[in-house]
Amino acid sequence: MSAIRADFPILERVHRDAPLVYLDNAATTQKPVAVIDAIADYYRLHNANVHRAAYVLAEEATTLMEDARTACQAFIGARERAEIVFTRGTTEAINLVANGLSSVCEPGDEILLTELEHHSNIVPWQMLAERSGAVIRAVKVRADGELDLEDFYAKLTDKTRIFACNHVSNALGTVNPAAELVQAARDAGAITVVDGAQAVLHKHVDVAALDCDFYAFSGHKMYGPTGIGVLYGKLDRLEALPPWQGGGEMIETVTLSGSTYQRPPYKFEAGTPHIAGAIGLGAAVSYLNDISRDELVAAENELVAKTLSQLRQIPGFRLVGEPAERSAVISFLIDGAHPQDVGTLLDQQGVAVRTGHHCAMPLMQALGIPGTVRASFSLYNNAEDADRLVRAVDKATTFL
Ligand code: PMP
Repeated sequence: MSAIRADFPILERVHRDAPLVYLDNAATTQKPVAVIDAIADYYRLHNANVHRAAYVLAEEATTLMEDARTACQAFIGARERAEIVFTRGTTEAINLVANGLSSVCEPGDEILLTELEHHSNIVPWQMLAERSGAVIRAVKVRADGELDLEDFYAKLTDKTRIFACNHVSNALGTVNPAAELVQAARDAGAITVVDGAQAVLHKHVDVAALDCDFYAFSGHKMYGPTGIGVLYGKLDRLEALPPWQGGGEMIETVTLSGSTYQRPPYKFEAGTPHIAGAIGLGAAVSYLNDISRDELVAAENELVAKTLSQLRQIPGFRLVGEPAERSAVISFLIDGAHPQDVGTLLDQQGVAVRTGHHCAMPLMQALGIPGTVRASFSLYNNAEDADRLVRAVDKATTFL
């Protein structure tokens, strides 16, 4: 596991006289040299606007960006390059879909979500519901952090137009049975949207096998840059979706009386795209293809399980969520302490974790808690990071 640490320069940073322990990877991951260099090289050597130019720099920039699209296509098992739309991230991808699906919802239709969603997989659907008169319903989450499948099957009806859920929960680390949920929703006639923000790094995602209509993810949670992500959509779904922003790049012809649009993915990529971001994301995909990801994920799972069993020994430690399959997240509370205070005490010991509602306020409401302390791991975290977390939590409990 330590082999890949050397690829991430920021992990050498010292904070409070010790190497920084970064355990906020569900919020964003650190970047390897390969990604940093790809972005710098683009600006240093190839910078030009993409598409529609005959000179060498523009051709190079276009090739680099389109190669990144091809890399993303292979990374998630999409059948066609045209199914990969570059967006600013998961949030923009879901907004793009929710915006485009306005016409499929009529008053009384239902949009089925879950209580386990990030706000970015709730609010765009609420906005669609407001526009269309559709009604939001949400699958209940159980106290152990698993979705209540009985409730899912009860709420999935012939009124369900859209079903949107996350693949992996950012707040609790629950790995949802995405294939089962998507298949049932599809059989019920719903359009399926999967938020893969927390899944793409830790799992092998195969959208063709999953057979969802849409899948969204962000580059910055998988060692790529911020400001770039992907909306995958089945080609026929993307063809049917209206464009959502107008401007350059997305048109075929423009007259003052009207315009015609390009085919996907360009129909959805108005304006100058985040070229450097796309290239950086492509570099992140190549990096993930080059490392022994399966072994690293197995080691990460082992480390998370071991850390959890050590944390459980600490008096006052209360785990939030006991899902059957956990991704690299440990969400917890310390009896009698506010999560924010715990986070501050951990920071004082050089351990970076996140505290609060993790953009999942409905989940916190369902669990009846104000928030949690969340330690989220990545493939570069090692036993020393885990030890430092356990010692820091132990020490924090003596202060609180
Ligand atoms: N969904 C989940 C499950 C997430 O964890 C996040 C980021 N915390 C998002 C959506 C939103 O991603 P972004 O901010 O990159 O758009």
